[in-house]
Formats: sequence, structure tokens, C-alpha cells
Amino acid sequence: MTETQNARASELVASRVLDVPDFPKPGIVFKDLMPLFADGPVFRQVIDEIVAYHGPESFDVVAGVEARGFVVAAAIAYATGKGVVPVRKAGKLPRKTHSASYELEYGEATLEVHEDAFVAGQRVLVVDDVLATGGTAGAALELVERAGGTIAGFTVLMELGFLDGRQRLAPRTVHALLTV
Ligand code: AMP
Repeated sequence: MTETQNARASELVASRVLDVPDFPKPGIVFKDLMPLFADGPVFRQVIDEIVAYHGPESFDVVAGVEARGFVVAAAIAYATGKGVVPVRKAGKLPRKTHSASYELEYGEATLEVHEDAFVAGQRVLVVDDVLATGGTAGAALELVERAGGTIAGFTVLMELGFLDGRQRLAPRTVHALLTV
């Protein structure tokens, strides 16, 4: 990806995010990306930027983290003709799962993925909307590997740099369209 493409992607995300103070708890500034999802041309450009960054041949399937990650994952999967695998919150998947618990910027949670979600060695692009402390991403990446997938990349639309999620995930690399 060129510098120009990078700048364009950052600007697109920055232009369609709303800061919601004190949601869902006092002191948290929630980054609401619903305006980006709701804007067809911008959403398409953002998805195209992610696909261009990784290259459509670099992954076999896309995993999205519940719930906003599903929106991004499904769009990338459709755009590239790949499948999509949901990484879900506890108790939602109907068959045998792997599960991982972690701490959030605001609370605690458990994520799950079906044990048979991936063919062994399948290259998985993992996506979510926002990277905060990195707990969610760490759990999602761990689950993909426990279910037999190989991590092809991890992308978020927006990274909250001051929470050091990227450092927490090292040596894994994080691709963020916008870092604030
Ligand atoms: P974390 O595990 O702390 O990196 O949190 C990332 C997950 O929580 C992602 O699935 C985000 O959708 C959500 N999240 C955490 N903090 C925020 C925030 N300030 N604004 C929007 N979403 C957030």
C-alpha cells in the first residue's frame, strides 16, 4: 500500500467516526463507526483498502469478531469470494467450541469459535472494528489458531494507540486504517 492510499484510508475512517463520551461506562469514549457502515461509497472504499493492503491471495477465509467485526468480515469475504467465520461471544455458537476469556477496556468477556471452523492450515484474516487494549484481539487470534487456522493478518478500522493494544499483541502485527 502506498503512502497516499494509507492517508486516504485514515481520512475516510476519521471522517465517519463519532466519539460518544461515557459509553458504555463513565470515562470511556466510545468510537462509533455506524456512520461509516451506513455510508455505502465510504464503506466500499474502506473494504477495498483492507483487501488491497493484504492482497486477496494472502488469505483463505475471514474471521470477524462479534459484533461489529462481522460487518467488516462479511464485506471483505464477499469482495474476495472467501468465506466468513464468526468469533462469537460466549453461549451463542450451537456446536462444540474453543473458548478464551480476557479483560476488556470496560469489563470482562469470553469469545468462542467452533472447533471445526477451519481446515488445518487455512490462512485466516482476522478483523474487528476497534483495537483498544488488545484483549479481544488476543483471544480471537488464539482461538483461530486453536481451531487449526493460521493467522494471515489482523486488521482493525481504528486503533486506540494510547491503550497499547499493539504492544500487547506483539510479535503479531496489527494493521489499523486509523490510529488515534
Ligand atoms: P479491547 O479488547 O480492549 O482491545 O477492546 C476491543 C473490543 O471492544 C472491540 O471489539 C471493540 O469493538 C470494543 N471496544 C473497546 N473499546 C472501544 C471503544 N472505545 N470504542 C468502540 N469500541 C470499543
